Amino acid sequence: MSTPMRRQYLGLKKQHPDAILFFRLGDFYETFDEDAKVVARVCDITLTSRPVGKDVRVPLAGVPYHSADGYIAKLLRAGYRIAIAEQSADPADPSLMQREVVRIVTAGTVTEESLLSAEANNYLAALARGDGLASLAYADISTGEFVVEEFSAGDDRVVQDALLRVGPAECIVSDGDDASQAAVRAAGLPVATIESWRVSPGRAAELLTQHFGVHTLAPFGIEERQLAIRAAALCLAYLEDTQPSALTVLESLRFDGGTGYLLLDAVAQRTLELTQSTRGGGVQGSLIEVLAQTQTAMGSRLLRQRLVKPLAVVEELDRRLDGVEFFFREDVLRARAREILRRMPDLERLATRLGQDSANPRHLLALAEGCRLTGELQELLSDGDSPLSGEAAQALATLDPCDDIRKLLDAALAEEPPANLNSPGVFRLGYDPELDRLVHTSTNAHQVLADLETRERARTRIKTLRVGHNNVFGYYLEVSRARSEEVPEDYIRKQTLVNAERYFTEELKALEADIYGAQERRLGLEKQLWSELLAKVSSASGRLLASARAVAVLDLLSALAEVARNQDYCRPLVTDSDAIEIRAGRHPVVELYLQRQGRTYVPNDVRLSNNEEAVLVVTGPNMAGKSTYLRQVALMVVMAQIGSFVPAESAHIGLVDRIFTRIGAQDELAAGESTFMVEMIEAANILRQAGPRSLVILDEVGRGTSTYDGMAIARAVVEHIHNAPSLGCKTLFATHYHELTDLEQYLPRVRNYSVAVAEEETDVVFLHKIVPGGADRSYGIHVAQLAGIPRPVLAR
Ligand code: ADP
Ligand code: MG
Repeated sequence: MSTPMRRQYLGLKKQHPDAILFFRLGDFYETFDEDAKVVARVCDITLTSRPVGKDVRVPLAGVPYHSADGYIAKLLRAGYRIAIAEQSADPADPSLMQREVVRIVTAGTVTEESLLSAEANNYLAALARGDGLASLAYADISTGEFVVEEFSAGDDRVVQDALLRVGPAECIVSDGDDASQAAVRAAGLPVATIESWRVSPGRAAELLTQHFGVHTLAPFGIEERQLAIRAAALCLAYLEDTQPSALTVLESLRFDGGTGYLLLDAVAQRTLELTQSTRGGGVQGSLIEVLAQTQTAMGSRLLRQRLVKPLAVVEELDRRLDGVEFFFREDVLRARAREILRRMPDLERLATRLGQDSANPRHLLALAEGCRLTGELQELLSDGDSPLSGEAAQALATLDPCDDIRKLLDAALAEEPPANLNSPGVFRLGYDPELDRLVHTSTNAHQVLADLETRERARTRIKTLRVGHNNVFGYYLEVSRARSEEVPEDYIRKQTLVNAERYFTEELKALEADIYGAQERRLGLEKQLWSELLAKVSSASGRLLASARAVAVLDLLSALAEVARNQDYCRPLVTDSDAIEIRAGRHPVVELYLQRQGRTYVPNDVRLSNNEEAVLVVTGPNMAGKSTYLRQVALMVVMAQIGSFVPAESAHIGLVDRIFTRIGAQDELAAGESTFMVEMIEAANILRQAGPRSLVILDEVGRGTSTYDGMAIARAVVEHIHNAPSLGCKTLFATHYHELTDLEQYLPRVRNYSVAVAEEETDVVFLHKIVPGGADRSYGIHVAQLAGIPRPVLAR
């Protein structure tokens, strides 16, 4: 590596010290020094070295540019960011390459299909905190979504809950905002910082007004909200630094004040296994596995968004449920709609690409297909016997097949266009007369070449003479070595091979110039036509995006209906009352897994209200089904509040605004504090945040210690929650301490339930049936027996 190039490298590296610098050298991205060591280790490639002067070598690791995505993905997953330095010939001195960093790839700013998951959003988030408040902004530059939330956060926990819920790929804070930085790190997310002066109150607001081209932030509902302004501005400032071309896709900002939702604390998010199972961490075994019958990527993302942020507004939920019910009733129509949706491309990301100028010919081809299918869907749903209702009707009204755009694309694009504009053949014959003429010249030239070959064979009487082409030498006449003595005078030697000689003639040379000229002009013209086409299509990106989101809604509603049909769910009645009353409810995930083994789930009822049965104490032996029962109730609340049908015969859900969960187990304990302290702090935390519409799930609180301590803790926690003056939240409490059934005697709003057990001679059978009344013993011996403990031990 020559010294000027080394200087160039070091200069760029100095500008981007916290990124791995991918330095383009021909067909490779090379990394040097410490970067090279990281790349070699993370990507599992060989570390070599390269001389950079006399007797000096530096570590080197390179990856081929055409397969860079895979390596970039590995580095992103390992928490690194990558600065991409591309090369271009220096106009002044073509022998020296210029290089500049064109982009910084970070986990939250990728747009490559290969680096994104189709089913989940990829959020870039920013956190700002101050004065008991916190604001979290998040943007997905692959879909154009941009949201900012503000909430009170006296407790660090609330910030953790929000970070876990949004699940961003990375999170930005301003430097010096140590509280935010600590929170992001505690959530295990990559942190990026922006200098705080760039988001000072005045500048932050200016950044936003300039970006949106507005005079005031009032239309976004945040003009008085300094933290929300700062968080949103952090996102923009970060994109300016890393991926400026993506800024255009963030066309609007939605403020979300956090009311009207069902919020889940971090433990509830984890233990209810909504989008991830606790074992394995994948979707398998989570609620989303049951519900994900969506057919499109957009629908899958919408499901995920709704699942982590259920609603608590009756009218809105009724609109959603009306939509699901329509598809639930219309089996034939649903099947047909799903068949159309199955073929639907990711219109949302395609439309967003238009705004970002990163669409290629195949993207536009997919877009045309998406428009066509949208038209089919619109026709199908408009022509049915019964009209759509609720959210489905609204989505149908928003569908826009964008016929003008589709017709334009149909007329313009070839049937199988190349993936990029470096190859010809993007456009269809008849789209542009000048292009047709150039195409004709090059195809015609091939005919002329064939004619020339025939003529030369006749003239030389060499039957094996042929016209050939390669990228280095261009067109040539090839004659085998044996006959090469016989070629005419006017043949000029071009290249000698082992068995053949290659020649050209003046005529062939002229033809070659014609062909090359036409091809070059063709590529140039195609590029020009492409930008014109893209400009026209991009002007419709807003319409396309709105329609794509309507498709997502229809996909989700019909998917939920499909699940409800197949799994025999019912429509829940959602109201503002304080009661939860479920008849013959089931746990959707456990039920699915039992079904796969040919077994059936035992349904159970529940009744909860603030003033009567506010605290249910569920006793029963280990493995009886207590935890499953608690989660089943919480899951049905969540399902009802995303607008899904629920696994029950009937369900009345008085809307819940928060779900808190505490699980008693050793591994949930913080080191250094006594079990009692920890569990009481947890209970106090719940009390600080819970209200009359909260649902509290306590599973075996007090288990992680000795029996007497454990029972004392459990008792104290239940009394505490029951007696809290302002509260009246609904609580489900499961414990294997059957002694706790006496709580019912002195706490008026406590009710005892237990899991029924059938004793058959010496065996016990768990019936998984929840019945009124407490358990009288714990059946520990029987559980030990079931677990295969040897007989002498049992006897002892
Ligand atoms: P506990 O919390 O009482 O120890 P779990 O709730 O963990 O028990 O349940 C133990 C197992 O029993 C579960 O893994 C599940 O397979 C089964 N089970 C629980 N409830 C039911 C039910 N209602 N119907 C069928 N099987 C159930
Ligand atoms: Mg349990």
